[in-house]
Amino acid sequence: MAHDCLFCKIIAGDIPSNKAAETDKILAFHDIAPQAPVHVLVIAKRHTPSVSETPDNAIFADLMGGARDVAKQLNLEDYRIILNNGAEAGQSVFHMHAHILAGRPLLWPPG
Ligand code: 5GP
Ligand code: ZN
Repeated sequence: MAHDCLFCKIIAGDIPSNKAAETDKILAFHDIAPQAPVHVLVIAKRHTPSVSETPDNAIFADLMGGARDVAKQLNLEDYRIILNNGAEAGQSVFHMHAHILAGRPLLWPPG
């Protein structure tokens, strides 16, 4: 691949992951450092670095629709979907991803 991206390597299977769901558009896998009893990451297979750098809107439908479908498959009723955009907002991997957090009460506003 042209760029050195951790999540593209997970999509390619070069780095193993604990998969939760997969379609032709998205991959969902369990976070390596879970922040809740359920912590799943949903990524589009098409590389885009972040929310603010996404070239078109279709990828958001793939990501958010994918997150909804994964939550349903996991029988989650209450859950939070988070997209961190930029380092100061908590983004550490620059392949856009949605976090699904569930399984414990979630504070609002987040810290
Ligand atoms: P961010 O901080 O960018 O919003 O989220 C990146 C997430 O990726 C973090 O929650 C981090 O624990 C997770 N992560 C980083 N490296 C790996 C990995 O190699 N495998 C998995 N499954 N998750 C990872
Ligand atoms: Zn990537």
